[in-house]
Amino acid sequence: MNPYDVNKVREDFPILKRKIYGKNLVYLDNAATTQKPQSVIDTVVKYYSESNSNIHRGVHYLSQEATVVFEEARENIQQYVNAKEKKEIIITKGTTDSINLMANSFGKKNVNEGDEVIISALEHHSNLVPWQQLCKEKKATLKIVPVNDQGEFLFDEYVKLLNSKTKLVTVSHVSNALGSINPIKEIIEKAHEFNIPVMIDGAQGISHCSVDVQQLDCDFYAFSGHKFYAPMGVGILYGKEKYLEEMPPYQMGGEMVDQVSFEKTSFNELPFKFEAGTPNVEAVLGLNAALEYIKNIGMENIARHENKLLNYATQELKKIDGIRFIGEAVNRAGVISFLIGDIHPFDAGTIIDHFGIAVRTGHHCAQPILDHFNIPGTVRASFAMYNTIEEIDLLTTTVKQVKTMFE
Ligand code: PLP
Repeated sequence: MNPYDVNKVREDFPILKRKIYGKNLVYLDNAATTQKPQSVIDTVVKYYSESNSNIHRGVHYLSQEATVVFEEARENIQQYVNAKEKKEIIITKGTTDSINLMANSFGKKNVNEGDEVIISALEHHSNLVPWQQLCKEKKATLKIVPVNDQGEFLFDEYVKLLNSKTKLVTVSHVSNALGSINPIKEIIEKAHEFNIPVMIDGAQGISHCSVDVQQLDCDFYAFSGHKFYAPMGVGILYGKEKYLEEMPPYQMGGEMVDQVSFEKTSFNELPFKFEAGTPNVEAVLGLNAALEYIKNIGMENIARHENKLLNYATQELKKIDGIRFIGEAVNRAGVISFLIGDIHPFDAGTIIDHFGIAVRTGHHCAQPILDHFNIPGTVRASFAMYNTIEEIDLLTTTVKQVKTMFE
């Protein structure tokens, strides 16, 4: 779409017409989940209205039809992230599920007593707890790359942690709490000098940046559909074939098997080896529709628009006396986290909500990074392709009112 027309984009998202407490909805909680365009909603409804049946199993017409569109969706996802092979695209329930697959499969196979796994201080609990528990179980050590007071990944400290005991580096592309964009290309290159594989938690990255897994040369990339204008309950784990082939299955059940007897089981080939049970077919088709929608708008256009919103929000909120930004990384995407004087973020969020504005308050499932700043939480406004400058003005006015109320 050139030039970018945000009002035209908004027309595609029916929920944006909703009133909340009699006011127009201003949805600024996109880091938690994005809204869905009509084409995604229609795809889900159409699937249930016309094609619903289980995939990969039936010889009947509907089953075969559903299987074909499901596998076409996988191929489109492969092309979108530029994976070399279709079988490198594993369908999961979301980023959390993808990372648990990694910890339980890659981790249990490769991480042993005395080994190390590296994460950063910016991680969402989803990319922390599975590794922490694995390390505990295996008597391995979780190493944390620190950040500076702007919330930026400290690359020199990271390099110091890499050694022959490191079995995996796993870091977020974009921090959900602060919006910092990590230098993932350089992180990957450096780890590869030590032959260490790297997983990227792309839960936030995928919706703000173009992702080319071959160009990044990442070994794994995980993301969720619902933060990317697609339905909930679907996610992706991209992995290089050479690693996925060696990894044992994570969950057991139907579809991931080849031959089963009471004595033994042989497993299906990639990607099915990691896809036990009936998948969320309608959500996969919805993800496919979201990809088409995003491709039509253009990720560069989306990123440019969101960047404009972020800069404007920073500039306008900065004018408010007593506002404190948490995380001011030079490279940032989609997220602005702040505190208003001594007002508890929960109180601020509750009042802001009464003006029809949805922001997030709390620790954003990233408690350690807020501990770093010695605060219990923040107010977080996060932007998507359909947000407007006028909405930022409303947020700024409301924040000023919150401040006045507490004075
Ligand atoms: N990683 C990051 C950076 C996130 O922002 C989130 C969700 O907010 C997750 C992981 C977990 O994603 P999901 O809840 O979709 O599995």
